[in-house]
Amino acid sequence: MSDTILAAEPTIRLVAFLGILAVMAQWEVAAPRRRRDIPRVVRWTNNLALVVLDTAILRLTFPILAVGLAVMAEDRGWGLFNNIDVPVWVAIAVSMLLLDLAIYLQHVMFHAVPGLWRLHRMHHADLDFDATTGLRFHPVEILISMGIKLAVVAALGPPAVAVLLFEVILNATALFNHANIDLPRPVDRFLRWIIVTPDMHRVHHSIDPRETNSNFGFNLPWWDRLLGTYVAQPAKGHKGMMIGIKQFRTRRDLWLDRMLIQPFLGPASGGALDARSNRKRSSSISSKPGADK
Ligand SMILES: [Zn+2]
Ligand SMILES: [Zn+2]
Repeated sequence: MSDTILAAEPTIRLVAFLGILAVMAQWEVAAPRRRRDIPRVVRWTNNLALVVLDTAILRLTFPILAVGLAVMAEDRGWGLFNNIDVPVWVAIAVSMLLLDLAIYLQHVMFHAVPGLWRLHRMHHADLDFDATTGLRFHPVEILISMGIKLAVVAALGPPAVAVLLFEVILNATALFNHANIDLPRPVDRFLRWIIVTPDMHRVHHSIDPRETNSNFGFNLPWWDRLLGTYVAQPAKGHKGMMIGIKQFRTRRDLWLDRMLIQPFLGPASGGALDARSNRKRSSSISSKPGADK
């Protein structure tokens, strides 16, 4: 069973990734939510080149990735679920839930610790918001996230299929909830109870730090609602809000070479613990809840 999973993993991942990216790209043309400010070719070329670079660096750095470690943990009896007797579906469901919580907490940490925010803000520096934004992460952030995920897998001992499912779903939802697509409002309202929608995650890409530091979930919207980081709509509406962060606002900043050096440039302002910038921004914006424009 685990050999089959490992053998099929690269194909499952690649087919799911390319299939969903193609669907989102078409959907963004058919029903866009916002007008584009930057030509697609500039952002897509650089964001997709970054994915190739990230994948190569990840594979060269770690001898084993999350699914492989789950298989190894099963063989050697490491971690919680390899030492307690629960039905496999319970182990799969609880593992996927806890992996999602871990990703949420890690995202909050990347906003809170100034040094980590320097890495993660590159994700926020994209000047438009579409499916490829969901792929735009600094290679060092990718390496740190994988280190954290491996630690969670070693401690939890989840079934390998749960880790594979979780990673494929996370990749798919990241493409979906960054997509520049116009979901009918009632559909968005309903979906928000079970999955992070593009309108929910777009708030997280607002230039206003109060909104940047909200809606940290990637898959499940529940953590934000339970733990008090949920903001329903942007104060200026989805069409009026500005995407990005205050730093890095030129087209040149969207190029791969500039993205890679962003962590070393300028102050680490705008993160969740940057009280000065949060205070200043929130007092300057309207206190009325944003209309869903
Ligand atoms: Zn973020
Ligand atoms: Zn995002």
